[in-house]
Amino acid sequence: MFIDSHCHINFPELAARMPEVLAQMAHNKVTHALCVSVDLPDFPQVLALAHQYPHIYASVGVHPDYEDTPEPSVEQLVELANDPKIIAIGETGLDYFRLQGDLEWQRERFRTHIRASRQCRKPLIIHTRSASVDTLRIMREEGAGTDAGGVAGVMHCFTESLEVARAAIEMGFYISFSGIVTFKSAKELQAVALELPLERILIETDAPYLAPVPYRGKMNEPGFVAHVGEYIAKLKGVPVEQVAQQTTANFFQLFQLQA
Ligand SMILES: [Zn+2]
Ligand SMILES: [Zn+2]
Repeated sequence: MFIDSHCHINFPELAARMPEVLAQMAHNKVTHALCVSVDLPDFPQVLALAHQYPHIYASVGVHPDYEDTPEPSVEQLVELANDPKIIAIGETGLDYFRLQGDLEWQRERFRTHIRASRQCRKPLIIHTRSASVDTLRIMREEGAGTDAGGVAGVMHCFTESLEVARAAIEMGFYISFSGIVTFKSAKELQAVALELPLERILIETDAPYLAPVPYRGKMNEPGFVAHVGEYIAKLKGVPVEQVAQQTTANFFQLFQLQA
């Protein structure tokens, strides 16, 4: 019914309690999850999870916050993505909040991922924090969007303005909301979610981080994405089934999968 479009269940704190995590998913009717890669050394574990469980998908990429880690090449990403369970390139993007100084390497790494996505025709998972101007600029320069011959993707854990969301949607991207949208303090983000059409929205946990209300501050897990879906339904004043069905259809559409 729900799909967690972005989680890190290979991280040790979640991997150690996998049977429980999968049971909570089943209990909350979370049918699938996308386990997102953050660096190359961790990739074999991410891929192994996707091979082990039919309802777990995976991506390949190197996160912009990982400074001292092997740098991927376009060819390497394309090669590693050549597996039916690898459905996306990322997570990639820019983060000027966590890291400061000369971040040209971050922008170069981002360009590498976009080039790989265009080559292997798998969508991008984009992380952007305090860097939306450069993120959109590089997306345009590298032709990330369907409007420029790319395959687009998702702006994950979205916390930017309505204007940024609309610019990404114009390039063919989806906007993914995490548990942050359920926080009392997230009034501006809630206004963005209210304004965007359900047809362009995905939901995610980003587990083990950012647990939604009522689990805020606890360890997050994919099953909790149901609370994000329920919150968006309430916010938009539509039945929760509608949010579940539409966000699920969006996920299958974006990642070119059979429902
Ligand atoms: Zn992220
Ligand atoms: Zn993430």
